[in-house]
Amino acid sequence: MKQFQLKYETKESFTEQLNKLSQWRSANPSYTTIFRIFSQDMDKEHIAEICRLIEDKMPDALYFGCTSNANIIEGALAKDKIILSCTVFEYETTQARLLQFPFLENDVKDDIHSLREACEANPWVNSIEMVATIMDMSMKEFCDEMSRLPRDIQVFGGGAFNPNMDDDTAFVFSKGNGFSDHGIVFLLLGGKDFHTYSTFISGWKPLQRRFRITKAEKAILYELDGRPAFDVYQRFLNISKNDKFFSNTLEFPLFMDHNGIDLLRCPLAVNEDDSLVMSSDMEENGIVKLAYGDPGTILNSIRKDGQKIADFQPEVILTFSCAVRRAFWGDQSISDETILFHNVAPTAGFYTHGEFIRIKGDMLNFNVTLVIAAMREGEPKGGEIVNIYDSHLDTPDKIPIIWRFVSFIEAATAELEEANRRLARTSITDGLTTLYNRAEIERRIRHALELINKEGSGIISLIMLDIDNFKRVNDIYGHKEGDNVIIALSDVLRKIAFKIPSASAGRWGGEEFMVLLAGKQIDETIETAEKIRTAFASISYETAGCQTVSIGVTQAKIGETADTLYTRVDKALYMAKAAGKNQVVSLRQD
Ligand code: GH3
Ligand code: MG
Ligand code: MG
Repeated sequence: MKQFQLKYETKESFTEQLNKLSQWRSANPSYTTIFRIFSQDMDKEHIAEICRLIEDKMPDALYFGCTSNANIIEGALAKDKIILSCTVFEYETTQARLLQFPFLENDVKDDIHSLREACEANPWVNSIEMVATIMDMSMKEFCDEMSRLPRDIQVFGGGAFNPNMDDDTAFVFSKGNGFSDHGIVFLLLGGKDFHTYSTFISGWKPLQRRFRITKAEKAILYELDGRPAFDVYQRFLNISKNDKFFSNTLEFPLFMDHNGIDLLRCPLAVNEDDSLVMSSDMEENGIVKLAYGDPGTILNSIRKDGQKIADFQPEVILTFSCAVRRAFWGDQSISDETILFHNVAPTAGFYTHGEFIRIKGDMLNFNVTLVIAAMREGEPKGGEIVNIYDSHLDTPDKIPIIWRFVSFIEAATAELEEANRRLARTSITDGLTTLYNRAEIERRIRHALELINKEGSGIISLIMLDIDNFKRVNDIYGHKEGDNVIIALSDVLRKIAFKIPSASAGRWGGEEFMVLLAGKQIDETIETAEKIRTAFASISYETAGCQTVSIGVTQAKIGETADTLYTRVDKALYMAKAAGKNQVVSLRQD
């Protein structure tokens, strides 16, 4: 396959380019021909003129395209408002077919159903290129439906845009279907000799601090960790609510975890209520991380991941790059990202309103990302593979200072998180035994009781333990040995009670303990208590010899309070003491 790139400056200059191409094509064996037209020019008449010229010179050629934020030609930002990339296939086996649908949220399912039928009717399809108008539209259902296409079909493309990022107008078009302000065009490609390798690169890196999306609807992000979403930008990055908000947050979009893949989302604006307008859908309950964009880091990622494209040895490269990247780099530097690929194969594309790619069957809608589709007919032609990784771009010989800062922040965050975890653990545990402390075991009992009271059914049982004649152990063998006996009982509880998944054990005070068992009948609880009693009695301490424990057992009544439950289990324990100690007494519900 061959790729020709054309620019539309004037009708005359364009006709000349088209004539040359048409002549070349008639002198060479060629089959399907496709023109992609990307336009910053929003005048439909100008595009219609181009389409007429193509139909006139090459009546059998297919064409389609969309409006864009800007275009990429010869691997760089195009100066021309309209560019064309013309792919001429050289294998008879390669086929292409265009489909265009009106694209509205409420009939996405029908559109994709028709697409699926077209794929079934044309089993040669192995790749689908797409352009779509997606302004303000939730793409979740679209992505879910696309994910159901046969798994081996690759999909890639971008959202039609406008040269002015604040302007909502955009359109798509294709041969035979005309223009559509709300439309989607699919180019089905395939055949046994047609191969595609598609991938995505962002280069933005996540910071490890995680935030949970506690409230979101479509692309409006209301809350992170239960606080207004803007708070994260204000508190962590000192970004204010002013007209620079968008340009300031460009360097710090959010990574949202979607089935293990990080999707970038860019805050476009902040609302009165401190919610954020994001560049695409947000998933409630999902986890996001702040990402940072640094030019050196981004270019390094592109070189590293881009090498796989060179290894594929493509003949054509298409790039669907987010308009936000252009805003981030500025027109002077944006081409640094894509020019590397033009050394591998002719590279063209456009700056999009959202990028699409299918990864392991899952259709993804990215922002701030560069989606690349590399195509080839037949086996690699051989020859030397272009080395993107060691390309001419400056390799920083000194580690950029931002990496040092990021490393500092990540290390400090990790330390803090560990300290927080330790603090959270110690605030609920008892120092001597490392079982739960009184406050925590009480909280757990109250919570379990609330649950069964709310449900009106369920069982919870309590085991209360008190070491017998413990004052004597302290008095005769010393406080240290007393401590050993207390620790030994906590070990017995861990060994026996913790075999039961629903069990929690805590130190009630001094040499008294409480065990909570949820979902266990009282008979089973008595058995467990008996096991604890005998296990403890069989331990022989170096100086204190054998010791015993008295145990009370009871079961909660639906509707009762924690206090009446405690009174009953305490009474059972008292009865065990009164009956001679070293025994289990149970008091049923009445
Ligand atoms: P009973 O069989 O009736 O339970 O008699 P007892 O001697 O065990 O009586 P009581 O429960 O009143 O005694 C509790 C003793 O436990 C009193 C206190 O000095 C001791 N104690 C409380 N906390 C600790 C501790 O952390 N370590 C040690 N070594 N002793 C403790
Ligand atoms: Mg006691
Ligand atoms: Mg005691």
